Amino acid sequence: MFDALSDKLKGLMKKVSGQSTLTESNMQEVLREVKLALLEADVNYKVTKDFVNRIKEKSLGSKVIMGVNARQQFIKLIHDELVEVLGGQNVSLNPKNNNKQNIIMLVGLQGAGKTTFAAKLSKLSKKEKEKVILIGADVYRPAAKRQLQVLSEQIGVEFFTINDSNDALLIVKKGLEKASDIEATTIVIDTAGRLHIDETLMKELEDIKAMASPTDILLVVDGMTGQDAVNVAKKFNETLVIDGVVLTKLDGDTRGGAALSIKEVSGKPIKYISEGEKLDEISKFYPDRLASRILGMGDVVSLVERAKDAIDEKEAKLMEEKFRKNQFDFEDFLKQFKMIKRMGSLGGILKLIPGVNLGDFDMANAEKEMKKIEAIIYSMTLEERRNPQLLKVFSRKNRIAKGSGVEVADVNKLLKQHENMKKMMKMFNSGNIPGFGKFPR
Ligand code: GDP
Repeated sequence: MFDALSDKLKGLMKKVSGQSTLTESNMQEVLREVKLALLEADVNYKVTKDFVNRIKEKSLGSKVIMGVNARQQFIKLIHDELVEVLGGQNVSLNPKNNNKQNIIMLVGLQGAGKTTFAAKLSKLSKKEKEKVILIGADVYRPAAKRQLQVLSEQIGVEFFTINDSNDALLIVKKGLEKASDIEATTIVIDTAGRLHIDETLMKELEDIKAMASPTDILLVVDGMTGQDAVNVAKKFNETLVIDGVVLTKLDGDTRGGAALSIKEVSGKPIKYISEGEKLDEISKFYPDRLASRILGMGDVVSLVERAKDAIDEKEAKLMEEKFRKNQFDFEDFLKQFKMIKRMGSLGGILKLIPGVNLGDFDMANAEKEMKKIEAIIYSMTLEERRNPQLLKVFSRKNRIAKGSGVEVADVNKLLKQHENMKKMMKMFNSGNIPGFGKFPR
């Protein structure tokens, strides 16, 4: 996600790392590059300009902070500003009506990923112990109702539609009655999309809104479409007044423009992101986590959360504890690999691990790389896995390389990654990166 932007910003961080302070002149050059990086990532022009101006003001206002080097100041400034444009903080769904029901109406253009997201959200809600019903009111796309029915059966949630009716209002009305009958606590309504925004579509959606009084109207937009997605959000909000945005397809090579512009331009927060076609590939949106990911700081919180789904809770807690105490050894590395295998999309998961530089991997060969790393760890003795310090001795490295059929350089690379990870964890834990605070508990 956002690889080009991420690489550029990381490169800039390296560049300023040689300087002990941020001055007006060296900031000017750096900010010009930040601006270019954002524009190339397809971020809205005004958002980019404001972003850079705010950093400029803050950096000049902050004078020189003794003891904090330029790189750390720069990371903090960029991180804080990224968090800000991404919306500041997580915005969850609105409260239930009379403490009874969430009625979530999904709207969006055809192909944005609305139907897929309806299923994902239902699955997530079910996991959160909600009694879910999905209402299929996309009367425009022929296969949509059927698609949703199949998905609801897969997830094991209630489903309602009227197959031989094209009357979306009637379907929603009857669906809500059924929701009451079965005492559903979360109702997800899939509505029709069009290829473009048109009056018929808006009218239909306004009618459904008036009748269903949804607690949330979520606009689903395709993150791959950049500024088009932002314009769609602006328009939908003007006519329908939405409560939040869902950004889909962030697993593709999205440049980041939509994510970084949508809140500032439309005024509405991103509530969820979707990162793949699998039904589990949905996340609540946390601006600080995404900002950390863009800056290559990893996203341990999301990693642990996904891990919790893939392994039992006790094990996840243990892992979290180890991260916090910075006791992450190669045994844990192996365990994590096993989890990763159960968590789907490898590239996406690897990026969540702090210190792992994807540049070191050829992603096409990621699976192969993983097997290699596993082989290296399996060639270590248990003692070595638990105490990586032992691996400083060349004869041990040599033995491991031979045992796993790799070069000593590969073993060194892995050791380096482990070191990086530890360094990163130390910084998180000590709160040494200004503005990042302690490792989240
Ligand atoms: P709708 O017309 O808005 O209901 O769109 P669909 O839910 O049918 O999705 C359109 C296409 O996008 C389908 O092929 C989905 O599998 C795909 N899709 C949806 N969400 C994602 C996502 O997050 N990542 C990827 N890669 N594909 C997605």
